[in-house]
Amino acid sequence: MPRKKKEKKMELKWKTAFELWEERRNIKRLKTGTPIDELIGGGIEEGEVVEFYGEFGSGKTQTALTLTTCVAGEMDENVLFVDCEGTFKPERVVEIAGARGYDPEEVLKRIHLVQPLTSDEQMEVFDQIPKDVKPKLVVVDGVTTLFRQEYIGRENLSKRQGLLRQFLRKMITYVRQNRAFGVVTNQVYGNPDGTPFMPLEYRELAVGGHSLYHTIDNRIFLRKAKGGTRIARLVDSSRYPMQERPFKITEKGIEPIESEES
Ligand code: ADP
Ligand code: MG
Repeated sequence: MPRKKKEKKMELKWKTAFELWEERRNIKRLKTGTPIDELIGGGIEEGEVVEFYGEFGSGKTQTALTLTTCVAGEMDENVLFVDCEGTFKPERVVEIAGARGYDPEEVLKRIHLVQPLTSDEQMEVFDQIPKDVKPKLVVVDGVTTLFRQEYIGRENLSKRQGLLRQFLRKMITYVRQNRAFGVVTNQVYGNPDGTPFMPLEYRELAVGGHSLYHTIDNRIFLRKAKGGTRIARLVDSSRYPMQERPFKITEKGIEPIESEES
């Protein structure tokens, strides 16, 4: 009979709900002064990943850059920015930082950028974060884009979903362990079961689908509205009511629209 391996004892951590409540009272939130805060209870929580999804030009990257500039400029913390679509422009960060009253050079120096060209490179990101960076915010702009380009057709769908799930697991683990803020942006595709009577956030679905994202609790759908405005809508959250807020894209990144304007 093979010798029985010495069993490693797994210690489970128990706590009372009161202890958890006390712990959570000290949790920091990423406050931006934008409508995003209001949708999710005051801002992204430490240890949490929020998804922004929407069509091309809906404001996903601009939202990500605004959150980035707030963390680097206001909180003086580092940001890890994973640019999977090659659209990151430092000049835009300089503009947002300047308009918000931060030192643009200091902000740029706090942003640690990686631009993976393949999904293999993207998979490596969380294994290769430089030790001294310790990002407070981790952004993955275009989280599904490379996978979608490389794994085409139904026959590759389950492989693609598996890899995406694996990538998100790595990200979520990193964000939880390091009490960082997590942000992913995602493209949409037309829901094949959609009808014209469905609300837009169900006609346009995030790539990867709901099964992939069961670990991401807060998903915010961005869409263009009239007069160059944009709408951010919280979709299918287990913790907050589904509601929406208008915003605009300006030199400050994204900004609220005052009620008389909307
Ligand atoms: P996506 O969802 O595809 O990532 P973006 O976040 O890049 O979309 O948003 C693109 C939109 O942001 C465009 O409509 C563009 O006009 C607007 N935009 C980009 N830079 C500025 C700026 N400096 N001032 C005002 N609007 C801008
Ligand atoms: Mg973009």
